[in-house]
Amino acid sequence: MIIKKKKLLQKALSSIREKRQITFIPTMGNFHKGHLSLINYAKKKKDFTVVSIFVNPLQFDDKEDFNLYPRTLKNDIDLLKDIGVDLIYIPQPSIVNNNLSFIKTNLISENLCGLDRPGHFSGVSTIILKFLILIQPDRIILGEKDYQQTLVIKQIIKDFFFPTKVLILPTVRDESGLALSSRNSLIGKKKRLSAKVIFESLNLLAQEIIEDGISISRLHFYKIKILKAGFEKVNYLEILKEKNLLPLDDYPDKARIFISAVIDNVRLIDNISLKKKLKLKKGKIL
Ligand code: AMP
Repeated sequence: MIIKKKKLLQKALSSIREKRQITFIPTMGNFHKGHLSLINYAKKKKDFTVVSIFVNPLQFDDKEDFNLYPRTLKNDIDLLKDIGVDLIYIPQPSIVNNNLSFIKTNLISENLCGLDRPGHFSGVSTIILKFLILIQPDRIILGEKDYQQTLVIKQIIKDFFFPTKVLILPTVRDESGLALSSRNSLIGKKKRLSAKVIFESLNLLAQEIIEDGISISRLHFYKIKILKAGFEKVNYLEILKEKNLLPLDDYPDKARIFISAVIDNVRLIDNISLKKKLKLKKGKIL
């Protein structure tokens, strides 16, 4: 079933809700194996599965980036039909046109991608709030690749009392380790080979930290390595507390490495968890 109008969506779901659990997977389409891992997981659960496809203009700070975002709607719909997704929701532009109310998740959305994409998380949060209200899902499935986004969405669910459970699934990568992303298709072939340096660097850095800690200046070494491999810019390479994205301090906490870098004018992000509690002491991460 494909639904475009929000009234029809609400009507269809109101009768389903009495009989079945609803699992929701928000996407911007142009499906790859990362999206499909979330969708297939939901299908296996035997919940009523709702997948939305919407390139949300509110979350793009750059009009050209929005225009260039890969769109393959017909293909995406065919894929979802093959998998047997119960409901495909393709919102009309009016869901956001003339929107004057925005929500903002303080702290979590203010660093990392929030710094180099102003307004991005406010746009994400606003569309997610609309979806949560319209769909009222029992469960929402998200990808770990967009880790900061998962924290923002968890916070909205908590702050606005939605009963929705959040499930986060691991990042799916290509054979070189590059995290799959709809944007990867915009990178030229030759440059795409160089993009593996991102995951390689994350792993090497993680290994160094786990083995005997690093001094903060080591992050600079990896930034240079990534630039030398062909990236135009490293927006950030940071190690932060996993639970709230705050800087490490002298209290040991679970941490994660986050990176965003630009290659062939395409902005990539990635992150990995450090499987150990870490602290920052005299400029060293231990
Ligand atoms: P997007 O269409 O890029 O907005 O992504 C829709 C959902 O798919 C989000 O929850 C993403 O985190 C998730 N996702 C995107 N890429 C991957 C990936 N490589 N592995 C796992 N999940 C992903």
